[in-house]
Amino acid sequence: MLGKNGAFTRANFDRNDVSALTNYDALIVGAGFAGAVTARRLAEDGNKKVLVLERRDHVAGNAYDCLDAAGILIHQYGPHIFHTNDKRVFDYLSRFTRWRDYQHTVVASIPRDSAGHGRLQYPVPFNLDSMEAAFGPEEGKRLGDKLIAAYGAEKKVTILELRQNPDPEISAIADYVYEHVFVHYTMKQWGQRPEEIDPATTARVPVFLSRDPRYFQDAYQGMPLEGYTPMFERMLDHPNITVELGSDALKRLELDSGVIKLDGEAFNGPVVYTGQADELFAFQFSPLPYRTLDFRYETIDRDYFQSHGTVNYTVDEDFTRITEFKHLTGQKKPGVTTIMREYSKTYAGADHEIPYYAIINPDNNALYAKYKAEADKFPQLRLLGRLAEYKYYNMDAIAARALALADEMR
Ligand code: FAD
Ligand code: UDP
Repeated sequence: MLGKNGAFTRANFDRNDVSALTNYDALIVGAGFAGAVTARRLAEDGNKKVLVLERRDHVAGNAYDCLDAAGILIHQYGPHIFHTNDKRVFDYLSRFTRWRDYQHTVVASIPRDSAGHGRLQYPVPFNLDSMEAAFGPEEGKRLGDKLIAAYGAEKKVTILELRQNPDPEISAIADYVYEHVFVHYTMKQWGQRPEEIDPATTARVPVFLSRDPRYFQDAYQGMPLEGYTPMFERMLDHPNITVELGSDALKRLELDSGVIKLDGEAFNGPVVYTGQADELFAFQFSPLPYRTLDFRYETIDRDYFQSHGTVNYTVDEDFTRITEFKHLTGQKKPGVTTIMREYSKTYAGADHEIPYYAIINPDNNALYAKYKAEADKFPQLRLLGRLAEYKYYNMDAIAARALALADEMR
């Protein structure tokens, strides 16, 4: 429901009369990208009555944004920058938001010497300009040309691939980048070295033989003009959708012998579950490992704190990166800014912790497969999303999965 001034009224999300659960054709657990996109598609194109249960007191999942006490628009669960090459996803989401053009740039901040005198900054992904900043203009240019001769201009080369190159000079560049960009950051983020984690993870940030300073090269990138939360509120604003906030589905669902019950009654329609797969089955095969994050915010009385949206501390400090939201959102608010430092640690399952990153490796994938096999015993149940599928999905990838799943289910 849209209010008079176009703002979303939260009344729509209050607990409705749920006495007639049989009125619903489909049940969705979670109102993040996976749940919200599926709900809208089923409600609109499948003409299904959809009940969405969301444990938190807000929609948008980890993409949720809101104003902080200083009036700065922040991302409560980590910085989210939308980027995609998938026109279908971009067009779909564009129905619910206009966009602010924002091309994310990131720099690495590195101490110049071991005594900590001054800091060097250069683009990440490490590119031809980073090379010149690190090795000096002439030597950096020569080394960049050498890499281009080996791999091609505008090519992306993963750090693990670069480290395989037998040429002594290229190997020395690889060692430099490994040491100054990857190894310490990856140790902070994952507690493991780059060669110990899933290669697809470091491949997200390859060495880029280009002068393009952007973090992503996708055709469509930007930020929802008024933020992610209003985009989700519009997506879920449909007469066939009821959203219940503050409702933990696991307290209401029973899964037994191929039958799913909601509030004690058999529910026969499709159930799309976007929470943790291990939690759904009471951790019966042991919990799936995750990394969690501590976000520490600081509000500072000045226009801006740093030069870029995100600065990665790739060599020193305990945190991985600092994000300054005003750069991302384009919010104009003189004299005040909010920054956020990210500290990564093992997820221990404590109540206040959130499982942000699946730790993808063969053992954990095998453990996940056991939960998936349990889910497959319930033909009406679909696991969808970063948690439910135990995958490292970006927002666009999960939106694409949700559209595809809804196509199948309609
Ligand atoms: P979620 O957003 O986690 O939504 C799942 C929802 O289900 C949650 O709201 C949860 O409360 C709810 N839920 C779980 N269990 C239950 C239950 N039992 N009952 C009711 N509700 C339940 N992607 C990008 O494309 N660009 C970025 O810049 C980017 N930055 C990121 C930064 C960080 C720090 C992190 C962690 C992720 C980032 N991502 C980014 C990834 C992005 O967050 C995910 O792709 C996206 O949020 C996945 O959506 P989802 O619906 O699968 O999961
Ligand atoms: N990475 C790194 N140094 C950097 C940036 C990234 O070592 O400056 C590695 C690190 O292992 C990280 C991975 O690349 O976890 C993926 O980085 P990305 O920025 O995509 O991570 P996310 O934003 O998803 O946390």
